[in-house]
Amino acid sequence: MRRKIVAGNWKMNNDLAQTESLISGIRKKLKKTDVEVMIAPPFTNLFAAFEALRQSPIEVVAQNMHYADNGAYTGEISAEMLKSIGISTVILGHSERRAYFGEDDALLAKKVDSALKNQMTIIFCFGEELADRKSENHFKVVENQLKNALFHLPAEAWKNIILAYEPVWAIGTGETASPEQAQEMHYFIRETIAEKYTDKISDYVSILYGGSVKPNNAEEIFSQPDVDGGLIGGASLVAEDFIAIVKAL
Ligand code: PEP
Repeated sequence: MRRKIVAGNWKMNNDLAQTESLISGIRKKLKKTDVEVMIAPPFTNLFAAFEALRQSPIEVVAQNMHYADNGAYTGEISAEMLKSIGISTVILGHSERRAYFGEDDALLAKKVDSALKNQMTIIFCFGEELADRKSENHFKVVENQLKNALFHLPAEAWKNIILAYEPVWAIGTGETASPEQAQEMHYFIRETIAEKYTDKISDYVSILYGGSVKPNNAEEIFSQPDVDGGLIGGASLVAEDFIAIVKAL
């Protein structure tokens, strides 16, 4: 059985008071579910969120981290630091990190290694840009992103990897991949992993879809056999929308 996950990526949104209020809204609305629910607040609110959710099944995860354990990296946060406040899952490779902060596959491979060395779970994001899809290079682009950042890992590392396929043209744009496009790519990702590793690993790894998932389209996307949940941006900032998406899985 693969893990079913809905994770909310808050990005650079919500101050401390807004964080507390959104968490309380989510908790009130979240009934018993077999879906793993995660939220990723900004760094400044991670510990407050972790404390507020101590008695809850909702996991607090980080949006990013540096590859070094410590040192002269002004403005950065390490896996060790995240672990020290109880955070054990981190999002890596988000398209906004790739586009605005120059994170490439080689850097991401280092971050992946550091997270795993520190016994963290990774939600690894990747996906093609619109030009790649228009030129029909999307499968190649996705395959290379996986190969370059993850395929150096030994088989046992995959128990700590969650994948998030996020076509860049669908993030924050209101445009979603069709359920068929999502399924086609998720199936391709699974095949690519099976070729490099084993069927067992490819059957085990959860692959989330991200890109303008909303309450009105979540059920259709989540009904696809190789879609195991979602990474949600904009809609994770409104408690009732986020919970409606959790319920759709
Ligand atoms: C994201 O940032 O990972 C994301 C999927 O954003 P949105 O849902 O707003 O498209």
